[in-house]
Amino acid sequence: MTGPATDADDILDIVGVGFGPSNLALAVAVREHNADRPAAEHLTQVYFEKQPAFGWHRGMLIDGATMQVSFIKDLVTMRNPASEYGFLSYLHDNDRLADFINHKSLFPSRVEFHDYLEWVARRFQDVARYGSEVVAMRPGPGGDHIEVIVRRGGEHRVQRARNVVVAVGQEPALPDDIELGDRIWHCAQLLERVERLTEEPRRAVVVGAGQSAAETTEFLHRRFENAEVSAIFLRYGYSVADDTPFANRIFDPESVDVFYGAPENVKRMLFDYHRNTNYSVVDQELADELYRRVYQERVRGVERLRILNASRLHAVRRDVTGDGLRVDVEHLPTGEKRSFGVDLVVYATGYRPIDPANVLGEVAEYCRRDAGKRPAITRDYRLETDDRLRAGIYLQGGTEQTHGISAQLLSNTAVRAGEIVRSIAGARVGAV
Ligand SMILES: Cc1cc2nc3c(=O)[nH]c(=O)nc-3n(C[C@H](O)[C@H](O)[C@H](O)COP(=O)(O)OP(=O)(O)OC[C@H]3O[C@@H](n4cnc5c(N)ncnc54)[C@H](O)[C@@H]3O)c2cc1C
Repeated sequence: MTGPATDADDILDIVGVGFGPSNLALAVAVREHNADRPAAEHLTQVYFEKQPAFGWHRGMLIDGATMQVSFIKDLVTMRNPASEYGFLSYLHDNDRLADFINHKSLFPSRVEFHDYLEWVARRFQDVARYGSEVVAMRPGPGGDHIEVIVRRGGEHRVQRARNVVVAVGQEPALPDDIELGDRIWHCAQLLERVERLTEEPRRAVVVGAGQSAAETTEFLHRRFENAEVSAIFLRYGYSVADDTPFANRIFDPESVDVFYGAPENVKRMLFDYHRNTNYSVVDQELADELYRRVYQERVRGVERLRILNASRLHAVRRDVTGDGLRVDVEHLPTGEKRSFGVDLVVYATGYRPIDPANVLGEVAEYCRRDAGKRPAITRDYRLETDDRLRAGIYLQGGTEQTHGISAQLLSNTAVRAGEIVRSIAGARVGAV
């Protein structure tokens, strides 16, 4: 039996797995690197993306939801403020620069930021391969390149690469034993699921206390004017994200150096101190808005938004008396249990990084492990491989334990992309 067809005879300098913001920022950095150099030093690049077109968390592009990061931390500005791919150039191109300034906000809506990302992605159509999922990799003969196996439609093809940059993002995290379905969703699917509803829900519950949970609660309560929406979470109340200036420094490019060089116990300590900048926390404005609604409803005597705090959702089961669901909820301080019927359960229980091993395939066997048995990774985001494999494998995302809390976020995307390009270009010069 012959293997999958080879896509091109050429070995590309960079093959990206995933074309979300991280690898889009890389594509920009590569193009800008090439623009400044003679043709002999140009890096070639292609990115495989399994979605049919560019899309950034489309299921949560809730009207009114804003970015959790300043627009200045776009795909490029922190690396090259003069770039033509920055958010300000996008605004200028769309004739909204003055209007945006009058807005007096550093935080655009997610819908607008998505539009910015699409605007950049459109200018990189030539290097994007949509509808193409990377399913495995294997070392090429001699170990100086990697064969990337890509599924497109029903076919598999191979693309050879001197360097692979894996930026596959995150996947929805759910409690064990939860099966998603027509009435049980993860918030990652929120908007497309809502669009497909044939009947308005009368009672919905949202599980979780982080930003996505609060946004989902706010959205369902606003969208379905007659529905009762219950937020269920273990905390006593929503906790607000710490975005104060000193704490925000944990997202600075410089903090990656500090974090990377720190002993393991200090890394853990810093992570724990500052997890409330990002994890299980909510923007102040949104928390205030939800409280305002709860209070106004109490004044009017119609309680549609219910906060079931310090509570655990134990079970979700089919309602034998109808076609809905029943949920069993325990109020933890009192142990009081209650059960009620709902039409909809939305889990907003977070995301976890997709394990790069899913796409590394055979190549994973060539990767060295650190003392904690995790893949060893250098400061320039390169996986350490043994002597049999000289091709480069880089990770964007999934490096929180080594590079710090910004690894999964946008804050450092521009600078990280520049560092990876420098590493790849440097290795090429070294090889010559
Ligand atoms: C709702 C939501 C809002 C957020 N808002 C912010 C924010 O305001 N600020 C912030 O800093 N961070 C935010 N984040 C964090 C988020 O991780 C980053 O915004 C960003 O998405 C990271 O970009 P990425 O390219 O690394 O990953 P992703 O955006 O997840 O992109 C990964 C891409 O890889 C593709 N892919 C996966 N596997 C394969 C494969 N095998 N083959 C081909 N393609 C593949 C996926 O389809 C996807 O398009 C948010 C996250 C969510 C869920």
